Amino acid sequence: MKLRIAIQKSGRLHEDSIKLLKECGIDINNGVNKLKTEATNFPLEVFFLRDDDIPQYVEDGVADLGIVGENVVLEKNRPLRTVEKLGFGKCRLAMAVPKSMEYSSIRDLQGQRIATSYPVIVNDFLRKLDIQAEIHEISGSVEIAPGIGLADAICDLVSSGSTLFMNGLKEVETVLRSEAVLVSNDKLSPGQQQLLAKLQFRIQAVKKAKN
Ligand code: ATP
Ligand code: ZN
Repeated sequence: MKLRIAIQKSGRLHEDSIKLLKECGIDINNGVNKLKTEATNFPLEVFFLRDDDIPQYVEDGVADLGIVGENVVLEKNRPLRTVEKLGFGKCRLAMAVPKSMEYSSIRDLQGQRIATSYPVIVNDFLRKLDIQAEIHEISGSVEIAPGIGLADAICDLVSSGSTLFMNGLKEVETVLRSEAVLVSNDKLSPGQQQLLAKLQFRIQAVKKAKN
């Protein structure tokens, strides 16, 4: 019996996900250009996937656990259990408009075109505030959309804000604060649940040691 965990293959969460497992005393090889690897001292198999695919794989039970940004969990809107917040991959999903735009409140986005890779989260945010806007889903380089006339505003992930600034944009609303989380499905056997409890206990100890 073992647990299968899906982590990002490459990108912003990859290193910290591996680091967390190592800090939990789990020995694994870095899986660059590999699909999966097995821990040598814990019954854990690690799958390397695109972060966008992780919620689906965990829901379907191809993996038992996943490490992914809360932003992706919410956007994919799958029935997953958030086991633990992990304290890395911190960022915010923010609304930004051209620096030259006069912006005083969210009302100023009424009727505007908003480019984003997070249509589900943005729709939900605007609906709750009773703002109607045209959402244009684009998968990458969202920050260039206003400059090329594709949108009036964007909603994108930011950490420092320097990318926005370089593209002549200013941040005007925080839609979501996000960090990496450990998620699971509800298909774990009792034995797997015990392994998960063991892993979670170690993660909590690692987190405590950092505070
Ligand atoms: P993949 O190839 O796996 O699809 P990606 O390009 O979609 O990767 P990354 O840019 O590596 O994703 O970001 C992964 C996650 O890192 C984001 O979903 C988010 O939770 C987190 N993150 C932290 N800071 C930032 C940031 N400044 N910009 C984007 N994402 C960030
Ligand atoms: Zn992705």
